[in-house]
Amino acid sequence: MSSRLRILSIIVMTYMLAALCWWAVLLHRKNVEVFKLESKLLVERHLNDIGVPSVDITTLPEYAELKQNYESQTIMIASEAMVFGIVLILGIYFINRAFSRELAVAEKQKNFLLSITHELKSPLASINLILDTFVKRDLPPDRIKEFSKDALTESTRLDELFNKILLATRLGSTHQFAMQQTNISSIIEHTLQKIERVHTELTLTSDIQKSVICKVDESAMASVLHNLVENALKYTTDQPKVHITLAIRQARAVLSISDNGIGIAPNERQRIFEQFYRIGSEDTRTSKGTGLGLYIVKEIVTAHKGKIKVADNTEGGTTFEISLPVAN
Ligand code: ADP
Repeated sequence: MSSRLRILSIIVMTYMLAALCWWAVLLHRKNVEVFKLESKLLVERHLNDIGVPSVDITTLPEYAELKQNYESQTIMIASEAMVFGIVLILGIYFINRAFSRELAVAEKQKNFLLSITHELKSPLASINLILDTFVKRDLPPDRIKEFSKDALTESTRLDELFNKILLATRLGSTHQFAMQQTNISSIIEHTLQKIERVHTELTLTSDIQKSVICKVDESAMASVLHNLVENALKYTTDQPKVHITLAIRQARAVLSISDNGIGIAPNERQRIFEQFYRIGSEDTRTSKGTGLGLYIVKEIVTAHKGKIKVADNTEGGTTFEISLPVAN
């Protein structure tokens, strides 16, 4: 982006310099002409003073050509000024737009750093505290087991976070998907069973059409489902409920994931897929996150020639809809 911005500003500056040089030459020429004309007027006034009658210039044969030259030069200057103005306005507009985008990216990266620092620090602080307790106090075996479980949960969270960052970085560059014709109905059912085992607080219902075959990378598709269901849990304040459906519609496999959470405002539905984007501000937000989950989901879906959108959920909450081409 910044190299395009530099090229654009060089073009605009070069054009402005060329236009200014051309105008300087033109001005100089006109100045010389004005000097010659004023000298001629001086002579004419002098001749008038000594009684030589002046001539009506419009009656001279060269007058028409002179007038035409003058008019075409006026048109040329006006058009050049117009082009100059338009280029200047467009240049300023594009440079300004690119600059605002750079600022937005910088803001998102700052937000990302803030949230990532928080995300890294809090599990580390918990693990530290637990280890500190082990060192300083003699605990009964059941307490040791309980604390160890907590430490394990925190370290798993850290591991997941690093995996997310690594995956997002790889997706942005050279990640190769292992695509093969797969029964995505069974991948989805299998992944849902795993999610249900881990998140016992979740009420999961589904309506999955059997034997839907698509060309996919199995683990990437499972990661899509994990990300979306985990978001559904994270952004739900009541008893979390998720409903998942899979059906073939117009030669595409349509997977929809609906939750009963806080929902996503229509004006945020495009931006949530941007890297590091999180709704709200770092100061007011209470949920933990990095703004990478939906970016990863969108990159994976796009690599599968699929589409993802936030559909209207009439019952409140959020519905993500993914459509993938069905394999022949
Ligand atoms: P993260 O959850 O780490 O912030 P994501 O990329 O997964 O990042 O999501 C981006 C943003 O989209 C979140 O910050 C959240 O505001 C919003 N969002 C995602 N999923 C949901 C959902 N199911 N319900 C409500 N808001 C959501």
